Amino acid sequence: MTTTPATRAVPFFNYQKAFGANEDDYVRIFRDVMQRGAFIMQADLERFERNLATYLGVRHAIGLGNCTDALIAALRAAGIGPGDEVIFPSHTMVASPASVFFLGATPVPVDCGPDHLIDPASVARAITERTKAIMPVQLNGRTAEMDAIGTIARTHNLLIVEDSAQGLGSMFRGRFAGTFGVAGTYSFYPAKILGCLGDGGALVTNDDEIARKVRLYRDHGRNPATGNVETWGLNSRLDNLQAAILDFQFQNYQATIDRRRAIASLYQELLGRVEELVLPPAPGSDPAHFDTFQNYEIEAEHRDALREFLKQHGVGTIVQWGGKAVHQFTGLGFKVRLPNTERLFERCLMLPMNLTISDDDVHHVAGAIRAFYGC
Ligand SMILES: *Cc1c(COP(=O)(O)O)cnc(C)c1O
Repeated sequence: MTTTPATRAVPFFNYQKAFGANEDDYVRIFRDVMQRGAFIMQADLERFERNLATYLGVRHAIGLGNCTDALIAALRAAGIGPGDEVIFPSHTMVASPASVFFLGATPVPVDCGPDHLIDPASVARAITERTKAIMPVQLNGRTAEMDAIGTIARTHNLLIVEDSAQGLGSMFRGRFAGTFGVAGTYSFYPAKILGCLGDGGALVTNDDEIARKVRLYRDHGRNPATGNVETWGLNSRLDNLQAAILDFQFQNYQATIDRRRAIASLYQELLGRVEELVLPPAPGSDPAHFDTFQNYEIEAEHRDALREFLKQHGVGTIVQWGGKAVHQFTGLGFKVRLPNTERLFERCLMLPMNLTISDDDVHHVAGAIRAFYGC
C-alpha cells in the first residue's frame, strides 16, 4: 500500500452537495407548491402517500411529522398503554423506546445478533405476562430475521410494530421492511435514504382501523371528512412541501438503492480481506435478504484509533447514536447488561455511504483503512 493523499475529503454526509445535485428541481418544486399555496394536507401529500403505498404493496401509507411521532401513533392505535411492555433492541436510536415511554408503557431492551439487529433468542428470554408487542428495528437498510420474530409473536400472542426508520425498500424473503406487523414506520430525516429537506415520516398498515385512527391522531383528532373532533390528537402532519420533494426523490428510488448497493459491493471488494474488520454482508450474498445500505456499519479492531486516523485523512465516520446503546444512557434508568450490544459499541463504525460519494471517494476511504492496518 502506497501512502494515501490527504487531499481528498470524504465527509460522512454532505448536505450541501445533496441539495446541489437536485437544486434546479427543488427550486422548481418549491415555486410550484408556493404558487399553488398548497401547504398543509394537499394533493402532493396524497400523491406521495399513494405512491408509497403502491410501492410497498400496503393498503395505507400516512405521512406524519417524523418517524418518532409515527411510532407513537402506531403503538397508540394498536392499543399499547400503561402496564404494557414492549420489547426493542437496545442497538437503536432512543426514538424507538421513547415512543413506548410516552404512551406510559415500559420499553424492554434486548440484545442484538451478529447482524447488528434484534436477536430473536434475546426477545424470547425477555417475554413476561405484561409483554404486548415486539418492536424490531430494521437498521442500516437491513431487515431482521422476521421468520423467527413472527414465530415468537404468534406463539405468545404479541403484536409486531416495526421501526423501519432506516429500512425503506429493504426486504426479508421478498417482503418489505415495515410490512410485517400491524404497522411500520419510516423516517425522512435528511440523512435517511429517502431524506427530505427537514423532518418527515410515515406509517404504513394494512389495517383499516389503525389507519383511520392514525389519520385522526396526526390532525388534532379531527375527522378529515367532517372536521368533527373524534378523539384527542396532535399536530403531526407531513408538510405538503416536504411531501412534494419526497415524491420527486421517490421516482428515482430504485436508482438510489442500486447506487448504495454498488458502493457496498465496492467496499466489499476493497476491504473484504482486511482481517481486522467485519463487513456487512455483501449485496446478494444471502438470498433471504435484500439490503438497501442506509448505512455501512462495520466492526473494526482498534476502532477509535482507526477513526482518528481516518479523520486525519479527511474521512468522516460516525459511531451511531453518540456511541452508546439505549440501555447504556444512564439517565434513562435501564439496569440490564446486553453483552453483544455492548461489545458491538466498542467496535462499530459507519463509513461514508450516500449518493454524494464517488467510486474514487470509496477508494480513498478504503485506502486509508488499509494504510491504518498496514495491509
Ligand atoms: C432516524 C430514526 C428514528 C427517528 O426518526 P425521526 O424521523 O427523526 O423521528 C427512529 N428510529 C431509528 C432507528 C432511526 O434511525
